[in-house]
Amino acid sequence: MQYLERMRDRNGYQVALFPLPGFSISQTDYGTFSHHGGEEYWATDYLAIGSNGQRLYRQPCYAPVDIKCVFINQAEAMAVWESVERVHLANGMIDYLTITCYHDNDIEDGIYPYRVGQVIRQGYIFFKTGTGGTATGDHLHMETGYGRYLTQQSSARYTPEYKFHITDYTTPKRLHNYDALFINDTSPIDSPEHYIWVEFTDPILHEYTSKKFPWVLYSRKLREKRNS
Ligand SMILES: [Zn+2]
Repeated sequence: MQYLERMRDRNGYQVALFPLPGFSISQTDYGTFSHHGGEEYWATDYLAIGSNGQRLYRQPCYAPVDIKCVFINQAEAMAVWESVERVHLANGMIDYLTITCYHDNDIEDGIYPYRVGQVIRQGYIFFKTGTGGTATGDHLHMETGYGRYLTQQSSARYTPEYKFHITDYTTPKRLHNYDALFINDTSPIDSPEHYIWVEFTDPILHEYTSKKFPWVLYSRKLREKRNS
């Protein structure tokens, strides 16, 4: 998605959009480096990529829908946000979206400009890529799930109250990022085969019409190539 982009479906539900304008993936949801092969949670690490293919650092991430901050952890440089209303997810579900993000240095440094309870409207900045917490380079670690965030009680793994990751045993339940977030106006510069991104098309009701970047066409071409 692009900065200030807003989208609803024909029933008035907000359409969940991918929070970066362009990316390449440095570790997948089945990654074994720090994502534990996807056994417990599905996380993806994204490098922000600009319209000329250049690497972007400390790139702002845009709220995929209207979201409320529900948890912040300074040491891990992580924040959890849940949608204010039920929204239209990429797999067709209408449900609450919860999104867990890691590595914004501002959180670690104690200068994150948001607090628990704060609402950010779709298309506005809620997070930045970075190296906060445990990270080897500037990126966004993102997990998505359906359902509200009811798990902020505990650091104990394998309990329904576990707060640091979105799993099958927590609420929300985990969803692959591509099953949660539509890819409209985002360029997946480098994305593995099993990431089946979809665009919302039914019909597009923009509250704000973003500039059409030529690399949106590029991403379409990329997908056509992949599907052929
Ligand atoms: Zn990660």
